This record gives sequence, C-alpha cells and structure tokens, in this order.
Amino acid sequence: MEQSAINALRAQSLSPRGHFIDGRGQAASDGATESVISPIDGKVITQIASGTPSDVDQAVACARRAFEDGRWSKTAPSARKKVLFKLADLIEQRALEISVLGVLDNGTEINMAFKAEAMSAAATFRFYGEALDKVYGEIAPTSPDVLGLIHHTPVGVVGAIVPWNFPLMIGSWKIAPALAAGNSIVLKPAESASLTLLKIAELAVEAGLPEGVFNVVTGRGSVVGEALALSMDVDIMVFTGSGTTGRRLLEYSARSNLKRCYLELGGKSPNIIFADAPDLAKAARESAAGIFRNSGQVCIAGSRLLVQEDIHEEFVAEVCRHAENYRVGDPLNLDTQIGAVHSLSELEANLEFVEKAEVEGAQLRTGGVRILGETGGYYMQPTVMTDVKAEDNLFQNEVFGPVLAVTSFKTEEDALRLANATDFGLSAGVWTSNLSRAHRMVAGIRSGIVHVNTYGGSDLTVPLGGVKQSGNGHDKSLHAMDKYFDLKTAWIKL
Ligand code: ADP
Repeated sequence: MEQSAINALRAQSLSPRGHFIDGRGQAASDGATESVISPIDGKVITQIASGTPSDVDQAVACARRAFEDGRWSKTAPSARKKVLFKLADLIEQRALEISVLGVLDNGTEINMAFKAEAMSAAATFRFYGEALDKVYGEIAPTSPDVLGLIHHTPVGVVGAIVPWNFPLMIGSWKIAPALAAGNSIVLKPAESASLTLLKIAELAVEAGLPEGVFNVVTGRGSVVGEALALSMDVDIMVFTGSGTTGRRLLEYSARSNLKRCYLELGGKSPNIIFADAPDLAKAARESAAGIFRNSGQVCIAGSRLLVQEDIHEEFVAEVCRHAENYRVGDPLNLDTQIGAVHSLSELEANLEFVEKAEVEGAQLRTGGVRILGETGGYYMQPTVMTDVKAEDNLFQNEVFGPVLAVTSFKTEEDALRLANATDFGLSAGVWTSNLSRAHRMVAGIRSGIVHVNTYGGSDLTVPLGGVKQSGNGHDKSLHAMDKYFDLKTAWIKL
C-alpha cells in the first residue's frame, strides 16, 4: 500500500448513493436521504438513501421473485461457485479503493481495514464458494422397505442487518454462506457504514450474480431494520449488533411470521492472566491489542482483564505502557495504529463509562480523554481502569470503546467465577503454562471461543458465536451454512 494512492482515493468526492435493488441504484420512495459523517474529521462526506417500509417491501418482493424463479437458487453448484470466486477476485482487485471507502465512513485504520475488511471479505466469498459443492444430503438408516432422504434446501429470502464496526467482514460472513446455499438476500447495513456493502452488491452483479438476488436497503434501523424483520416474506433474520436490537428482532419475529433469528450480540470478554503465563511481556502486548485495536470497537474485544494478584501491578504497568505508546490518529495515515471512534455519540458514551467507573471507585491509570479534538474527528486515548469490582457498570456492560476494566484475583476458582460473572458469553482468553489449568478454564468458561496464550486471532475455519446473552448461531466455518438451509425429508415407500 502506498500513502500517495490512499491520499488520491481520499481526495475523490463521493456521489450520493441510493439503495441497490434488483441490480440498480434507487432513491428512497420519498426521496429522503441521510448524511454520512466521517469520524476522521466530523465532516459530511456524502448522502445515502434513507429507506422507507415500502422500499423494504419492494426489495423483499424482488428477492422473493428471484428466489422462486430459480435464477440463482436452482443453478448448478458449479455455476454459483464461479460467481463467488469471481466476486472474491473483483474485491481483491479493488481492495484499496474499497478499504479507503470503508475507512472514510467508519474510521478503522487503513492497514486493518485492508486486511480485516476487504481482503477478509474476498477470502470469505472464496471459502463459501469452495464449500458449496461439498454439502451432501443424507440417507437415513430406515428399514429396507423405505428410503429416507434428507435434503438441504435453501431457506428462501434472508434478511440481514449488520453493524458499523466491521461492516464488510461481518456482512460477508452472512452474505457469502447465504448466497452459497442458493438464497436471496435483503441486507440493511448500519446507517453510518453503508458504503462498502453497497459497493459489494454492485460488484456481485458484475461477477455474474443475477439481478435481484442480493439487494441492499440503506437507512435507519428503527425504520428499515424494523420493516425487514417484520416482513411476512423474509424467512430468516441474521443479525450482528446490540442486545437491545436483538431483543427487538425476536419481538418482530413473534409479531410477524415466526422467522428464525440468529443473533450475534457482543460481549464483555474476560482475558485472564495467571502468574504462570509463559511470556508475560507477550501477554501484556496482546492484551492491550485485544482491547485497543479498532478503538475497542470489536465484538470479541478482551475488555475485562483479570490479573492474578502477585503480578497485578507490574502487568498493569506494562499494559499502560502499550496503551500510551499507540499512535492514535488519522486512520488513512499508514503509520496510524488506532483510528477514530466511530461517532460523536459513541465517543461521549465511552467517556461517560469512564466517569461512572470513577464514581464507583475504579482507578483511572491512563487515558480517559478525548484527543485530537482540533481535527474535528472523534479520537480517544486508550484507557486503563483498575480496581473494577464485579458489580460495577464497567465490569458488567459493554463499552464498545477503548476502555479496559482490570480486576485482580487470587485463585483459579476466583478467576473462573469472575470470568462467568456477566450476562455475556462471546469470547475469553487464558494465559497460563499449566496445560491442565488451561483445559479446565476452557471447559469452565461459558463463551463461544476461549483463546489460550493468545488473544483475538482466529480464522474462517472456526465458528464465531455467543452463548448466554451474547446470542445464538454461528458465523464463519462450515457450521455457518447450517443457518441458510432447511432440512427436508423425503420418506419414500419402496
Ligand atoms: P450498535 O450499538 O452496534 O449500533 P445496533 O443494534 O443499534 O448496535 O445497530 C446494529 C444494526 O441494527 C444497525 O444496522 C442498525 O441500524 C440496526 N437497528 C437498530 N435499531 C433497529 C431496530 N429497531 N430494528 C432493526 N434494526 C435496527
């Protein structure tokens, strides 16, 4: 990546974007638009369509038509594979342009956006393109006078709602397996981070996806998202976002057609440092990255650091040192390590968490303030707070910002009790050189993933999903495909 190429892309003005329905850009039915504000400098960069319920109805009808006439759902797996591979190629060819577009509206620093958004989306389309002709049906072990066949059939119209933090990565975790399985889609991106997903929908048609199979309706969650989840003609909803919205989706489902809802709802993930960790310097470095990368706006962020008493002080000092050394700033500068907080309201909410935690008795060790205010952008100094108690707001609730809550513990039992003492269960980390302890912790922690002697990394081969109030269902891996199929039995009397 060249800084000059990034600067040239950033200097281009962005034309207003409509929805993408039936293979074409389209304004909202009432012509309304929303301003897209860049967190880099707080300036309006373009407008997107502010969708209406009738736009949603139109997109759903179009997706249904496409599904029923079989233009995608009834094509040979080999043909679908070709399109998904081509889409992956197109994303890779345009990766820098797509990444800069994404950084402009969501604020993730460019190196991370390039890898975790554009390149990861390409890899995801390729992964599910490869997977789609390896899904076999089954023959049931019936008595010899019958034949029981179990078919995988696509569910039909998938409604997808995604958040602003990694719109393309999370979006493609849903779009790719849904398309691979032969479904049609109506996607609603977050109102503040729609640009890259609109681009992917265009590229999908360029790659050969028939028009009408993948539609994007932009606008407000409370209007477009609600209409989508209330639709009588959407078969399943897949969602990543807040618990509040997740609960609403279940209500919308109950009030409409009982569509299945798969919810990925964030977390308050414990990262546990035992004194016998194999490499405490590495543990401190990765623990800092595990909360501060992307300004803490990561669903699996290790936002609760549990540190064994004997090493607490030295370990916290080391994490603070990393926190203070990060280069926070303009996310389109290649030297930046941490970009912007996504919006002013998110920044204010982060600062409020810090204030409340101090009132509850936590110690502010570093950070806790807005920085670079003169740019007009939304930046926050990575923040470490110690003496956080299990009953505190900062221990129990997701900040979704660069604020680390530190709690010390004495024994393995204490660590496990603290790890499980929230309503969430998405991710966790355990640092120890005691193999038996590592396995005991993996077994005892209630979460979708437990990292051992590392934090935050994984790849497409493993599922991501939560337990407890972090949600249900899985993105990534072959398991993600299960959501997008119904099982149908043929019971044939011979
Ligand atoms: P976050 O705190 O990450 O913004 P939200 O749950 O508010 O989490 O947003 C995630 C996605 O859900 C966004 O695309 C948003 O527009 C959408 N959304 C918000 N409110 C609703 C709603 N009432 N119904 C459906 N979708 C919604």
